[in-house]
Amino acid sequence: MLAMDKCAPACDSVVMANHLIDALRAPSQARLDEILMDGGVTLGAFWHGVDQLSASLAACDVLPGDRVAVQVAKSVTALQLYLATVQIGGVFLPLNTAYTLDEVAYLVENAEPRVIVCDPSAASEMTARHTACRVETLGPDGTGSIVEDAPRVQPVARGPEDLAAILYTSGTTGRSKGAMLSHSALLSNSRTLAELWQFNASDTLIHALPIFHTHGLFVASNIALLSGARMVFLPGFDTDAILEAMPRATALMGVPTFYTRLLGDPRLDRARAANMRLFVSGSAPLLAGTHRQWEARTGHRILERYGMTETNMNTSNPYKGERRAGTVGFPLPDVELRIMGPGGPVEKGGIGGIEVRGPNVFSGYWRMPEKTAEELRPDGWFITGDLGQVDADGYITIVGRLKDLIISGGFNIYPKEVEEVLDDVPGILESAVIGVPHPDFGEGVVAVIVADGSVAIDERAVQAAVSDRLAKFKQPKRVFVVDALPRNTMGKVQKAALRAEYAAVFQVSNS
Ligand code: AMP
Repeated sequence: MLAMDKCAPACDSVVMANHLIDALRAPSQARLDEILMDGGVTLGAFWHGVDQLSASLAACDVLPGDRVAVQVAKSVTALQLYLATVQIGGVFLPLNTAYTLDEVAYLVENAEPRVIVCDPSAASEMTARHTACRVETLGPDGTGSIVEDAPRVQPVARGPEDLAAILYTSGTTGRSKGAMLSHSALLSNSRTLAELWQFNASDTLIHALPIFHTHGLFVASNIALLSGARMVFLPGFDTDAILEAMPRATALMGVPTFYTRLLGDPRLDRARAANMRLFVSGSAPLLAGTHRQWEARTGHRILERYGMTETNMNTSNPYKGERRAGTVGFPLPDVELRIMGPGGPVEKGGIGGIEVRGPNVFSGYWRMPEKTAEELRPDGWFITGDLGQVDADGYITIVGRLKDLIISGGFNIYPKEVEEVLDDVPGILESAVIGVPHPDFGEGVVAVIVADGSVAIDERAVQAAVSDRLAKFKQPKRVFVVDALPRNTMGKVQKAALRAEYAAVFQVSNS
């Protein structure tokens, strides 16, 4: 009974307090026969599965504080594995399923997990590469070596400040950093959002987001469990499945591409969305046009919120009150937000770096004290790296990432301002504006656009269309029409990839 012995030191008190899991589990206790998931998974069966996986992990010698790295397809079992890891005091480390073996190798080296759980097809390669870790498997169907029977173990006591998870940032520039998230950072944010968005046991959430990212893992799953809501738990985005579920669901959480894709289907209409009470969007900017089209088609105004791996959620448009397109609303009730310029807070309405402070903020970057010191101030303010502004009514707008800011001829150009003008041009569906090296100006503005097919569009036409609306230095010097913008799995446009692709457009050829 190795697992039981290992657990013993932390299990010697009668009441086992596990800050996050106790709270997520509590709403199920009196309703174990009720359905949690489509397909008939009851709350009792769900938590029983969590207990079984806890036992399996303990049998793998996972001790409090040990990391459990998981790179598997989304499944109910994968979600249970997150809860099981935290329940036995471990630190859950989800990995994007798109990561290559080399990318995983860097993260494994950095995080030193006790166990890696991967798809069965990757097991032999993982085992060969990571000899210091125990490798277990979990397939998309919920079977694998990690679901083997093992002697039952007690939950492990964990306090609010203990780590529950490490999520690696997407790291488009430089190496990914592991954001350390405590039990209280996760729980406080889920509680705040569940209350603000009025989740309760009569809700059914359509869960189509990946669960290796903060949005699907924490915002969606934690809120549903905490409020006792049901879930339609889909393996990924699927227009048919979402439209089919909508009449019996009440809420959907998505990235902007969910909404644009759903709008592309004629079956989306008011009748289909009549039972829904909440559509949430985040992780990438929602176009104001999408917001308006969604309202016209369904009668619902999408609620846009803003968050990130390091902080969970920071702001939200109001549940009751005006949801303003193009903005991310107000700071959450327990989150402070300020806009900082080089010399301190900027004037109201000015653009500057967004900083946030609150119980939602992470505990630092795993084994990177110098990076932590660069971004997390000693008094708790986190420098998000996003640029934003607050309007007279207090609504916050994200202007872009600081690293995406374009400086051309000494002038600052905020890509979003140019993108908004471009998106209004007839014939343009969407746009991404980047700065690339320019021999005279330092950086030159390049627009990459996707046409909507309504009218013919080319570089000249676009440049002419924006010439009256943008100062000369903001106007794109080059415009490229592409079939689609490069996006990651969360729908974010990959500006670093675009900058690399168009890096040489202003270079003078010496040949
Ligand atoms: P991630 O850590 O992968 O969740 O990425 C966080 C980043 O996504 C933020 O720092 C923002 O740049 C961006 N982001 C998240 N939500 C929004 C939003 N509603 N509007 C614009 N950008 C967003």
